[in-house]
Amino acid sequence: MASKAPACPQCGTQIAAGLLCCPGCGGLVHADELKRLAKSARLAGDAQRPREALTLWREALEFLPPGSRQHAQIGERIAELSDRVDQQPASATDTNAPAASASSAPRFGWKKGLAGAGALGLLFWKFKFVLTFLLTKGKLLILGLTKGSTFFSMILSLGVYWTAFGWKFALGLVISIYIHEMGHVAALRRFGIKATAPMFIPGLGAIVRLKQYPATPREDARVGLAGPIWGLAAAVGAYLVALATGWPSWAAIARVGAWINLFNLLPFWQLDGGRGFRALARKQRWAAAGVIAIAFILTSEGLLILLLIAALAKALSKSAPADSDRTAFWQYVLLVIALSFLSLIEVPGLAGA
Ligand SMILES: [Zn+2]
Ligand SMILES: [Zn+2]
Repeated sequence: MASKAPACPQCGTQIAAGLLCCPGCGGLVHADELKRLAKSARLAGDAQRPREALTLWREALEFLPPGSRQHAQIGERIAELSDRVDQQPASATDTNAPAASASSAPRFGWKKGLAGAGALGLLFWKFKFVLTFLLTKGKLLILGLTKGSTFFSMILSLGVYWTAFGWKFALGLVISIYIHEMGHVAALRRFGIKATAPMFIPGLGAIVRLKQYPATPREDARVGLAGPIWGLAAAVGAYLVALATGWPSWAAIARVGAWINLFNLLPFWQLDGGRGFRALARKQRWAAAGVIAIAFILTSEGLLILLLIAALAKALSKSAPADSDRTAFWQYVLLVIALSFLSLIEVPGLAGA
C-alpha cells in the first residue's frame, strides 16, 4: 500500500511512470492535462496568438503516444500554426517588438555630428544598425547569461581560447559564438519549441539541445539558419570595430567568427547548413551548389570546397522535398556569399606576410 504509482482515473489500474496509455483500459493517462492544454491552445489560437498556441500544442503532443490518431492530428495543427508564425515578420511575434522602431528621433543628431568625419561617419552609421540589432535583442542575450550552465561553460571556453590566443581574441570569439547560439534560441522561442540554454564546448563551440523537435523541415531550417544569421551580424560588428579602431584582435575575431559560421553552413548531418538544406527542393540545392562554386572562384576560401561536395551530394540524394522553401534558399546563399567575403579579411600578424 506504500506504492506511490498513480492509479488510472477510469479503471483504477496502477500506472508506471512514463507510460502515456493505461495498460488496463488503454485510456490516456494525462487526459485531464491534455484537455486543459487543448482548451488554452484553442483560446490562444482564436485570439491570434499563434506562438502561444504553438507552445501549448507542443506541450500537449508530449502526452500523446506517437502513432496515435490524436498525435497525428495535433502534429498537423502544429505544422499549420508554424507556417502562420513563419509568414509573420520575426518582430511581430516578439514580446518587445516596439523597441525596433523607437530610434528615429536621435538619427539626425547622429548624422549631423559625424558629417564632417566623412567615411568614418558612414562607418559609425552602419555600425549603429548592428548595435540597434543587438540592443533590441539585448534582453534575450542577457537572459541567456543568467543560466548557470551557459555561464560556467562559457568561462571554461574562454580559458581555453585565452591560453591559446590572448584574452581580447578569446573574449570576442566567445561572445560571437554566444550570439550565434542565441540566434537559434530566438528562433526556437519564435516557434514555441522548448530547448536548453546554450552550453559551451571548450575548443569547439557551443550547442543548444532541443527538448522538442521541429514539426516541419521549414521550421527546422528557420531554427538552423538563425544561428549563422546572428553569427554573421556578430562578425560584421567585429569587423566594423576593427576598421574603426585598427585593433588586429577585432579583425581576427571577425575572420575566425566568419569561418566558424561558414563551417556551420556545411549541408551535412545536424549542422546548421544540413538543417537549412533539408527544406530545399532539388533545383534549389543545385542552385545553392552553383553559388558555393562561384563564391569559391571569387574568394578561394578552401572551406567552400567541402561545402560544395556536401551540397552536390545533397542535390543528388533522393530525399529532397517536392515543394521549395524560398526563404531558406535565400538565407542560405546570402549567408554563404557574405561569410565567404568576410573570410578574406586580412589579419595583421595572422596572415604572416
Ligand atoms: Zn485504465
Ligand atoms: Zn548553430
